This record gives sequence, C-alpha cells and structure tokens, in this order.
Amino acid sequence: MSRYPHLLAPLDLGHITLPNRVLMGSMHTGLEETRDWNRVAEFYAARARGGVGLMVTGGMAPNAEGGVFPGAAGLFTPEDIANHKRVTDRVHTAGGLIAMQILHAGRYAYGPNCVAPSAIKSPISPFKPTELNEDGIEKQISDIVTAATRAQEAGYDGVEVMGSEGYFLNQFLVTHTNRREDRWGGSYENRMQLPVEVVRRVREAVGPDFIVIYRLSMIDLIPNGSTWEEVVQLAKAIEAAGASILNTGIGWHEARIPTIATSVPRKAFAWVTQKLMGEVSIPVITSNRINTPEVAEEVLSEGCADMVSMARPFLADADFVAKAAAGRAQTIAPCIACNQACLDHTFSGKLTSCLVNPRACHETELSWSATETPKRVAIVGAGPAGLATAMVAAERGHKVALFDKAPEIGGQLNMAKMVPGKEEFHGLVAWFETMMEEHSVDLRLNTEADAATLIDFDEVIIATGVLPRDPEIMGQTGPNVLSYIDVLRGGAHVGNRVAIVGAGGIGFDVAEYLAHEGESPTEVPELWRKEWGVRDPEDVRGGVAPEGPQPVAPAREITLLQRKAEKLGKRLGKTTGWIHRASLQMKNVRMLGGVNYEKIDARGLWVSYGEERERLELIEADTIVLCAGQIPLRDVADALIAKGKPAHIIGGADVAAELDAKRAIDQGVRLAAQI
Ligand code: NAP
Ligand code: SF4
Repeated sequence: MSRYPHLLAPLDLGHITLPNRVLMGSMHTGLEETRDWNRVAEFYAARARGGVGLMVTGGMAPNAEGGVFPGAAGLFTPEDIANHKRVTDRVHTAGGLIAMQILHAGRYAYGPNCVAPSAIKSPISPFKPTELNEDGIEKQISDIVTAATRAQEAGYDGVEVMGSEGYFLNQFLVTHTNRREDRWGGSYENRMQLPVEVVRRVREAVGPDFIVIYRLSMIDLIPNGSTWEEVVQLAKAIEAAGASILNTGIGWHEARIPTIATSVPRKAFAWVTQKLMGEVSIPVITSNRINTPEVAEEVLSEGCADMVSMARPFLADADFVAKAAAGRAQTIAPCIACNQACLDHTFSGKLTSCLVNPRACHETELSWSATETPKRVAIVGAGPAGLATAMVAAERGHKVALFDKAPEIGGQLNMAKMVPGKEEFHGLVAWFETMMEEHSVDLRLNTEADAATLIDFDEVIIATGVLPRDPEIMGQTGPNVLSYIDVLRGGAHVGNRVAIVGAGGIGFDVAEYLAHEGESPTEVPELWRKEWGVRDPEDVRGGVAPEGPQPVAPAREITLLQRKAEKLGKRLGKTTGWIHRASLQMKNVRMLGGVNYEKIDARGLWVSYGEERERLELIEADTIVLCAGQIPLRDVADALIAKGKPAHIIGGADVAAELDAKRAIDQGVRLAAQI
C-alpha cells in the first residue's frame, strides 16, 4: 500500500474525477507576459506529466482595471484564447487537468485606473482606487463572467475565482475596505453579495460540467477582518451559488504577519481550514507551507481538508506527485520556502524560477540529456554550487568525483540550517545527499584536493566557495572577537551583550541565531502564533491578536551594525526582508547604520559617525561577531592555473559578492548541462 493513501486517493467532483488530492496552487510566473506560449505550455505540461491532480494558472485579469499591473495577462482577444488553447491542449495531451485563475486585484492593481468598493488606498500601493458606482460594479461582474466563459472556450477544465489575499472580492467583504452605504455595503449580507453574485453568474454561464473553485479568505490577518461566523456564512453562500470546491486563502497581502515564508511552521494554517470541514458539503482545500508528501498526507489524514494545495513545491519539482506515488519521495527536490527565485523575482519584474531547480520556468531553454562522451569530472567543494554541478553531471552519465575537506556535504548550507526559522535547509542538504547516492557520485569527504590529484581529470570544476572578509578593525584579534563561522558552525561561547559587524544576510542570520534560546518557533506552532500575534478568527476578527505580537524574551542584548547609511536589511529578499527586520525588532535588536568601526577593546566596539568620524560611541559588548561579507577562496584554482590545467570556477570561488545559493546552484546546473 502507498505511504500516502489519502493524498493519492481520487476525488469525485461529479462530472469529473481528479486522480489525486493535490492541487498545484496559482502562481504568477511571468511566463504569459513573455508571449512565448510554447514556454508557458511546457511549464504546465511538465507538471501535468508529473502527476498533479489539478493545476491552477497564475491569475488572469478579467479587464484592464483589474490587472495586478498594467499589461497583466488576461483573455481579452481571440488571439489570447488561441494562445491559452495551446496550453490546455498540451496539458490534456500530458494527461493533466488545468483551471484558470481569474484575478481582479481591485485596489491592489498597481496603476492609476484601479477600482475598489471604496476609495481607500492600500498601504502597499501608491494608487488610490476609484470607488465603483452601480454600473461599474455590474461591469466588473460581467467581465469576470466573460473571463470564465473565455477560459471554457480556451479548453480549461475550470476556473478559480480569486476571492482572498485582499484582492477585489475580498475588499467588498470587510469594513476595512468597504464603507459603502448602498446594497453592496453596510451589513455583512450586503458586503458578501458581490462574491456570491460573481460565483452564481459564473456558474450560470459555464454550465454544470466545469470546475468552479472559489478561493476564500479564511483568516484575513488584518485588523477588522472577517469573523469566523462570517467566513462560514460566506462559504455556505458560495456553495449554494454553485462553486465546486473551496480553496483556502490565508492573510491579505498587506498583513504584517508572514504566511508562507520559510520561518512559518509547516502546515501552520491547516487548522483554520479544518474549522470549515463539515460546514459545507463541497470539497475544501487547505494550503500554505505544505511542502512534502508526508506533511500533505498528515493534513489530509487529520481531517483538515479534502485536498491540499501546494504551489512553490511544483517549481522545485515538477514530478512531486509521481515521485511520491512511486515511493521515491526522498528524491523530490524540496521547496525551502525561501522566495528567493520565485516571489522575489515576481516582485522585481523578473521571470519566476526556483533556487533549488533553475529549470523551473526555463524548461524550453535549460535542459540536458545523457552525454555521448562520458568524462572523468572532478569537482572541488561540496557546497550548493559543487553539489548542483555533481548532481546534473552525474545524471548525464559523467563519472564524477566530488571533493571536500569537510566531513560532510553542504558547505554554507550547514550554517544556514543552524538559524532558527531556516530549518528547511536540513531538508535541502538531505536531498543533495540522496541525489549524490542516486547518481553514484564518488564522494571524497575529509579530502583536500590538490593540483596533483586533479590534473588527470578530463574536467575540473572549482567550487571551493568563500572566505570571510577581513574588516581590518583595530583590536579584532582580541579574545572577545569571533567570526560568524565560529558562532554558526563552531558553537563558540557568546556573551550576553553582542555587537555584530555587518548586516548582510549572514549578519541578520547571526543576530536571529543569538537572539533565540530554546525551541525555534518555526518548530512549535503555538509559540510562532504567539510570537506573531495570530489568534483564532472565532475569537477575534481577522485572527489578529489585539495584544499584538508576544515574542519570547530575547536571549541576548544585540546591536547589529553596518557602515552604509541606509535602512538595515534593505538588500535582503524583496518579499522576506521585512520579516527578518520585524523579527529582530521584536527581539529588541538595536540596528545602527552609517557607522565607522574605530576599534575593539575589552569594553566592546567603538564606532564613530559620518565622514568626519564624529561622536565616538562605545557599543558595550562581551562578544563582537564579524560578518563583514566574503571573498572568493581560490587557492586550488590558482595552483591548477599555475600548472596550466584549465578549470571552471563557479559559485563563491568565482564571484563572492552577493553570492547566494540561488546563483551558485544556477551556475552549477548550467555548467553541468554543457560539459
Ligand atoms: P553581504 O550580504 O555582502 O553583507 C556583508 C556585510 O558586511 C554588509 O552589511 C556590509 O555592510 C559589511 N561589510 C562589507 N565590507 C566590510 C568591511 N570591509 N568592513 C566591515 N563591514 C563590511 O554578505 P554576507 O552577509 O556575508 O552574506 C553572503 C551572501 O549570502 C549574501 O549574498 C547574502 O545575501 C547571502 N545570504 C542570504 C541570506 C538570506 O536570507 N537570503 C542569508 C544569509 C546569507 P557595510 O559595507 O555597509 O558595512
Ligand atoms: Fe521554493 Fe525557494 Fe524555489 Fe521559491 S525559490 S520555489 S521558495 S525553493
């Protein structure tokens, strides 16, 4: 019997049966906007081949005013319909099912023509929306219905009506955004009329044999959000209006509570969906931070939902379901919920991809096949760059030896996994371990590879990584000074008062690590909910604790410093930087920018400010931790070059500046695809 009996059970929707309980949730990939429809089709077809039960596309705008940004994709012309038909045909040929999400952004639409129930600007957009009049509301409904019929014409198996995350339909539901006094505002019955009317008319237009999913905000995570009673009332009305499935939405985009970041516990919000079970008779889907078949199976077997939605895990591995079904779950490339190559890209106007799987959304351009000329390949350094190269090169049939002087693989990933809130990195290292075995990589740990060892290989790849940069501060050789490596890898003793030199990704990680003591809230959901102020929406509107976040008292008194006179953490991930900052602020970490480091003595770190080096100040500290960035480690590469042996240099050994696992893995995979 399968290890995932609930996950792999079919789901009967009446006119159609889904092969399993896995929905690939909607993601904006940016692919449609490239207008390369072959590429769009291949992205979805690859996931269909990988066995997912049903997919939902990225949000399609029903009209110009409802697009997330000007020019956002939608089905506006006969040519659009023909393009989408290419996608649905390819998915169906691959044996999959696909629904199109209709996304009207309302006041979140990033443009001056945005519309909303009331003219109230959102905190995450500079544009104040225009309040719709009765005709305007009718136009929005009718445009959404038209989008649904066009989706049907384009061959989709259904639509998902986006009613959560604070978008247009959600905006009608709560007084936070709906101050109308006509039949669309006032009482909850009035406020919920718009989503209900939309679903009723969509169903009327598409007929009974078409999937209609409604994504319902089950916990708004904003002040004055919906009560649980209202959520249930809406769910029942949406069912009566003709929806086939209810999907879970968690939190508005403007919420100041993280909902999908890596520090959010796995299945953190499944309990919210579970509350709806039994209230409606149509299937209910749960979502957020479900990223392995084990967790998905758990959620279903515990009765939290009838189906699970996973989105980013399908960027990390298109074959998630097929591998689980084949009993090979350990080979599923894990989504570590970092957002670095997916949402951070989306919000920077770049095409989505995946840190773990650079092929995601690049299926037509980055591919590899078995080599016809197997080579002996030596790779030095078993960090993310070396591991990714070894995995793909060996998969292609090259004979790969991977050297590392450490006793374990993972390189810098082993430091990341020590940080509370970054536990997912354990899974990433474990997956690389599996893949080394899977592809019979000759792993030579505890081994310094020198030029003599490497000279006879056909190809040599240097992925030796980085060394900490020396910040050259007077007094830094004192006993009270440590490097981030001593702290994160060596478990060195750190005093109660700490000054951290450097506020990049690692400075923030070290601060997070040192501020915590005891269990990581990411591993203890009750602690995490308390830390961020999440409550049951049955007790408090929107699920936002009126008392605010209640973090555990910080373990140390920490000052985080940088020389740049800008907000600390400004260059961290676009969608996660605010979480790191908020988390440290909750732990009273003092953040100081614009400093000059003058000297370190037994009392702590002396800094001054500005070009004139004014206002000498002592940051009293028992321990000073240096996190001043990194430089390439290229000693092996230099020795090889001296012997005239060509080598490929990748990852941090190539360029240390702004190095992260995303660039390292991408570079490694692309190189391995070519050699
Ligand atoms: P980094 O992000 O480049 O930050 C280096 C820090 O050191 C900066 O705050 C910089 O600020 C400071 N610095 C640079 N030169 C200095 C000098 N000579 N003296 C004193 N301070 C100096 O490097 P990192 O923190 O080592 O991180 C390495 C890479 O790993 C980064 O790309 C990072 O994004 C990635 N990473 C990412 C995450 C994540 O959460 N996404 C976590 C960990 C690491 P000033 O120049 O203003 O002083
Ligand atoms: Fe998951 Fe990170 Fe890949 Fe996004 S980039 S899909 S969050 S692993």
